Amino acid sequence: MSGFASSAPRIAVAGGSIGGLFAAAMLHRLGHDVTVYEKSVHGLRARGAGLVAQDEVFAALDVAGVPAGAVPGVTSVERIALDLRGAVRYRERAEQTQLSWDRLYDGLRDAIPDSRYVVNSPVTDVDARAGVLSFTAGEEREEASLLVGADGAHSHVRRFVAPDGGEPSYAGYAIWRGLIPEDLVPGASADTLFRRMTFFTGPGEHALGYLVPGADGQTQPGRRRYNWVWYRSMSSGDLSALMTAAGRLPLSTSLAPGQTPEDVRTHLIEAAQHRLPPPFADVIAMEPRPFLQGVLDYVAPRLTRTRALLLGDAAAVVRPHTAMGAAKAAGDALALARLLRSSTVDAALASYDEQRLPVATSIARYGVRLGEQLPL
Ligand SMILES: Cc1cc2nc3c(=O)[nH]c(=O)nc-3n(C[C@H](O)[C@H](O)[C@H](O)COP(=O)(O)OP(=O)(O)OC[C@H]3O[C@@H](n4cnc5c(N)ncnc54)[C@H](O)[C@@H]3O)c2cc1C
Repeated sequence: MSGFASSAPRIAVAGGSIGGLFAAAMLHRLGHDVTVYEKSVHGLRARGAGLVAQDEVFAALDVAGVPAGAVPGVTSVERIALDLRGAVRYRERAEQTQLSWDRLYDGLRDAIPDSRYVVNSPVTDVDARAGVLSFTAGEEREEASLLVGADGAHSHVRRFVAPDGGEPSYAGYAIWRGLIPEDLVPGASADTLFRRMTFFTGPGEHALGYLVPGADGQTQPGRRRYNWVWYRSMSSGDLSALMTAAGRLPLSTSLAPGQTPEDVRTHLIEAAQHRLPPPFADVIAMEPRPFLQGVLDYVAPRLTRTRALLLGDAAAVVRPHTAMGAAKAAGDALALARLLRSSTVDAALASYDEQRLPVATSIARYGVRLGEQLPL
């Protein structure tokens, strides 16, 4: 594979989740000097739940050099919609593959050397003087020829790239999520839920669920996990009160597994029994550590500035209904890797903005349209 058109630069990636890892793995494979700086203290193994795989994710895994089979999927054969009693009121054939976030992360993480993935290193204070891009990573002041901002919805790199870009806005509803071993799902509910993607929509509620591989990547029956997702209307005042009750800052918009107060979980289980079909109420009751994500909207006004660029959620946060958050991050990384194969950094940055900003804007708008069709 070819390197840069100019002398090989040092590439720093802020954020070591899916977007940062896609970029780092591809650029490492192209022979570049890449280091990932991740804010979390221990890295992100064994985190996350499920995601629906788009073709772009598999194309990007191939370019990143992740072996086929390292990121296994479970295939659904149809989609069904339930009524509140649990009867099937709609059915269509639709084959799709679902992945688990942890196996996707592991596959990508294994594609770059441990020495190139530095945890407990938040990137802050990005600056560019006399053409030299510098930033703080943890305690160290670093320089790079290119800084990839893959540091998520509340990106620090974005403060440098788009200082006038504002912050994501809350869409007025949130998602509760859970991931349980499939053998915890009671038999009758398993008969309804397995082998298919299942939906329910009611006033103020929208739920869906599907199987994903087991924690060690097993896809055989009995070894998989069931991923459920429950969208609920939640005012920003209620979200902020929940954050405070959970010991988080009032402006936070998410709770990781283990952060949901027990009384909130009890209330969630009770609400599911009244507001959702019995199979969904069953799987929600079996989840000991439900976690929450406020639904956000954001598109940066620009994606590049002086040797820095934004990728994945740092560039645009798209609503989960699109099932395209990971695919968009993969597409951003693919575009960057292709541009850097044949261009100087400066030329690649100019083209990256032109190519990826319209894609981000279009997916974000699509997500808002999908959200508006739901009674949330
Ligand atoms: C732990 C975790 C679990 C997830 N689980 C799911 C899931 O089950 N299903 C799903 O569809 N989506 C999930 N997501 C979201 C999904 O990964 C993203 O929406 C999408 O893949 C785009 O990824 P991203 O890398 O751009 O952003 P993100 O996945 O949000 O990653 C941003 C990363 O940047 C790090 N970071 C933040 N600030 C800094 C900083 N200043 N310096 C350095 N690092 C920083 C964060 O710790 C994080 O690792 C999860 C995200 C995380 C972080």
